Amino acid sequence: MDFNDSPEEAAFRQEVKTWLAENAQAYREPLPLGPGDIRIAEMGREWQKIKARGGYAAISWPTEAGGRGATPIEEVIFAEEENRYHVPVGPFVGIGVGLAVPTIRAHGTPEQIEQFAHPTLMGDILWCQLFSEPAAGSDLAAVRTRAQRDGDDWVVNGQKVWTSWAHTADWGILLARTDPEQVKHKGLTFFLLDMRTPGIDVRPIRSISGESEFNEVFLTDVRIPDRCRLGEVGAGWGVAMTTLMNERANSTGESLLLPDVSSLVRLARERGLAEKNQRELAALYAREQGLKYFQARQLTALSRGEQLGPMSVISKLVFANVLQDGSAMGLDMLGLEAAFLATEDHRVTRFQYGYQWAAALRIAGGADEILKNQIAERELGLPGEIRADKGVPFSQLPVGR
Ligand SMILES: Cc1cc2nc3c(=O)[nH]c(=O)nc-3n(C[C@H](O)[C@H](O)[C@H](O)COP(=O)(O)OP(=O)(O)OC[C@H]3O[C@@H](n4cnc5c(N)ncnc54)[C@H](O)[C@@H]3O)c2cc1C
Repeated sequence: MDFNDSPEEAAFRQEVKTWLAENAQAYREPLPLGPGDIRIAEMGREWQKIKARGGYAAISWPTEAGGRGATPIEEVIFAEEENRYHVPVGPFVGIGVGLAVPTIRAHGTPEQIEQFAHPTLMGDILWCQLFSEPAAGSDLAAVRTRAQRDGDDWVVNGQKVWTSWAHTADWGILLARTDPEQVKHKGLTFFLLDMRTPGIDVRPIRSISGESEFNEVFLTDVRIPDRCRLGEVGAGWGVAMTTLMNERANSTGESLLLPDVSSLVRLARERGLAEKNQRELAALYAREQGLKYFQARQLTALSRGEQLGPMSVISKLVFANVLQDGSAMGLDMLGLEAAFLATEDHRVTRFQYGYQWAAALRIAGGADEILKNQIAERELGLPGEIRADKGVPFSQLPVGR
């Protein structure tokens, strides 16, 4: 989306294009990996290293933290240009760079920042996010995993779920309950967990796409040294909010691998279906264009140094829904076989993958309904949800018993 570039931004975009042409040649074609091939995480480390050496790994971080000290909009420009290649980027690296390190930099001690920030930037540490549990997803403050103090350590017991890339992660960011007698948002503490610690059992969850990108993680008497606590005891909710704010700002999920409306229009023309599908295509196109202009407005705000408000979640909300509807339409046009058959045909797999990924994207990083609630309450000023758990100690809530 370069129609809004200022002269400086256009110059930066050109610089990035040149750098990518020199350094991302190996990623011109789709990676030779099947679904769920975990070698992508290792490839991700390598690509991260190349970016770090080129000064493009953390564009908007301050230079003293290993970044480029550039603007958030330059970060967006780099991502847009990078997305024109089949580079191995994804949560296996993104959780560390986009979520763990910003949280550590905001709440960590100088020693913690020193230990984790630069190695993560270089791809030497991969991270996973141990937040969700079977009874704590949208209602994250309901986590039941317990951490109890024992000398200089904490002893952790519980179960996490949907933990993306826990099977390749070196470290995890963990939210656990340290005081069940406090109200639910207050008795939580945030930890950094070495994934090689005894007592951690990572069990892959196989999804409908055949991939196993996320896991259940069982924690049994896992010992975490107190120096790996991030923030004060009982202040974990505030720390986790920093993580979630970064997650929601970063997740639109757009990529070259996914179909867009112009690929649907081409398909409809080829199959002689353009007329029949005209109205649906026009509606999808209008939503896609609306999103594009909304994002352009957000970029303009960023380039003026403004903060993005609660409305920024619209990007993911609209993108995931357009992707799901558009991919479904593509599969319809390709015929029944495309919906059911495994194939190597990139054009078909793009719609198949788009359809499956959209379903996950509508939940990950805040489900549609939660994001709509957020817009309703924080932006439109509508009344908040009724909170029956307000002021009640966690141990007295049904979920806490
Ligand atoms: C691809 C993917 C990757 C993920 N990776 C991670 C990860 O790495 N680490 C991690 O910790 N978690 C991860 N998650 C989990 C994710 O954060 C949760 O799935 C999400 O927060 C929703 O929680 P839940 O699954 O428990 O659903 P629930 O919270 O049980 O929600 C079920 C449905 O009820 C709706 N709902 C719930 N509460 C309300 C409400 N108050 N008002 C209206 N509707 C409501 C939801 O919108 C949803 O449609 C991942 C999820 C996905 C899909």
